[in-house]
Amino acid sequence: MKADVTVIGAGVIGAQTAVQLAERGLKVVLVDPGPPGGEQAATYGNAAWLSSHSVTPPASPGVWKQVPKWLRDPLGPLSLRPAYLPKVLPWLLRYLAAGSSEAKLRQIAGELRSLLKDAPQLHAEMAARAGVPELINATSGLMHVYRDRAGYEADGLGWRIRRELGITCEEIEAEELARRQPDLAKDYGFAVNVPEAGQCLNPGAYCAALVAYAGTMGARQIAARATGLRVEGGKLVAVETSQGDISCGSAVIAMGARSAALAAKAGDRVPLESERGYHVTVEGGANLPGPTTSVMVGDRKVVVTRLSTGIRCAGQVEIASPDASPDWRRAEIMRTHLGAVFPGLDTSEAKVWLGLRPSTPDGKPVIAKASGAEGVVHCFGHGHVGLVSSARSGRLAAQLVTGETPEIDLAPFAAGRFS
Ligand SMILES: Cc1cc2nc3c(=O)[nH]c(=O)nc-3n(C[C@H](O)[C@H](O)[C@H](O)COP(=O)(O)OP(=O)(O)OC[C@H]3O[C@@H](n4cnc5c(N)ncnc54)[C@H](O)[C@@H]3O)c2cc1C
Repeated sequence: MKADVTVIGAGVIGAQTAVQLAERGLKVVLVDPGPPGGEQAATYGNAAWLSSHSVTPPASPGVWKQVPKWLRDPLGPLSLRPAYLPKVLPWLLRYLAAGSSEAKLRQIAGELRSLLKDAPQLHAEMAARAGVPELINATSGLMHVYRDRAGYEADGLGWRIRRELGITCEEIEAEELARRQPDLAKDYGFAVNVPEAGQCLNPGAYCAALVAYAGTMGARQIAARATGLRVEGGKLVAVETSQGDISCGSAVIAMGARSAALAAKAGDRVPLESERGYHVTVEGGANLPGPTTSVMVGDRKVVVTRLSTGIRCAGQVEIASPDASPDWRRAEIMRTHLGAVFPGLDTSEAKVWLGLRPSTPDGKPVIAKASGAEGVVHCFGHGHVGLVSSARSGRLAAQLVTGETPEIDLAPFAAGRFS
């Protein structure tokens, strides 16, 4: 098989990239053993936030002091499989270091903002082109709810940094919150609304629609696993797959949490781990009790979102091998939180899911030309912000493939920043 470009991975990053390349008239082959946006992909089960304000890395100054408490708390947001600790320790130390000072946080926030700015609008435009405008709500806003103002002030640094970047954050007192979120438990008496943010109504379906749209422009999708890169004279000549080689001069590595091995074959060793996350989804229609605007629950560290298919509660960071079996007790924690935050919702029947956030230690993706194989472009490691950032990330990957000038400075997203 021959292509101009092989896109490896059909999660939302690969799907957006494939569309951008197909729109530029290139012959694209998209390779994934699973269906586009299927349950194997982090894209399928995320919290659906198009949070252009998610600019700070997961770690923040002093967060390490909270780690023992979180690990001991049976309903806590963090878990770690002890057997995996020796392997993951260097990554964990870098993860904590990335958020260890205000200066570092401000720098990363500015860099991530360049990637996330205008994301809801970019997604709305893309969804319209793909024929699924109903899957994006670019004007929903997103809400962070707290028990009281003190809870919000404990997160003060993140909010200060957002405001410094020009992001509007509306403070909402108890009475107004009860009016705006009538189904929310009355334990929550303070909130911050971010009007510029939006949400997707079904991330898996959105991803599948993007791939179908790329298909209308000639992109081919094959069910295969990429196994290697054939590089001759420093240039890519083929992507090796379980269904045979695809001859091509360019390839984009967009395999989410599984990207590191091929990236290394293209010359770049990237510290990539999976921050495993869980969700529960109560299926049903618009009459289910739940949020009016999607909420991040400050003290429980979960997001509750109303999707076209039901109410989803997503969260948890489980540090374990990507191949370790799911610990469904972590999903049960999601169910407990969901029932506590929206007490009118019957959570007895809920679908559970585990997914792998593809995470670098500094919370920023790698979007870069590979250093050891001309023609290979990296676009992976989007961690907690892969859905929201995907519209611009796909465009950037296409710009790198075609030799256009990237629309933002890509130095902060270089693969070499870890060496
Ligand atoms: C619980 C949870 C909540 C989240 N909430 C949000 C949110 O609200 N907003 C947000 O922006 N982000 C969120 N995220 C993060 C977001 O889901 C991810 O960053 C994003 O989906 C990553 O997309 P991706 O395409 O890089 O990877 P994936 O979606 O994981 O796709 C990678 C694809 O690569 C394929 N693949 C793997 N190996 C190979 C191979 N050898 N050959 C070919 N293909 C291969 C896989 O089958 C898969 O389909 C959340 C994640 C989780 C887990």
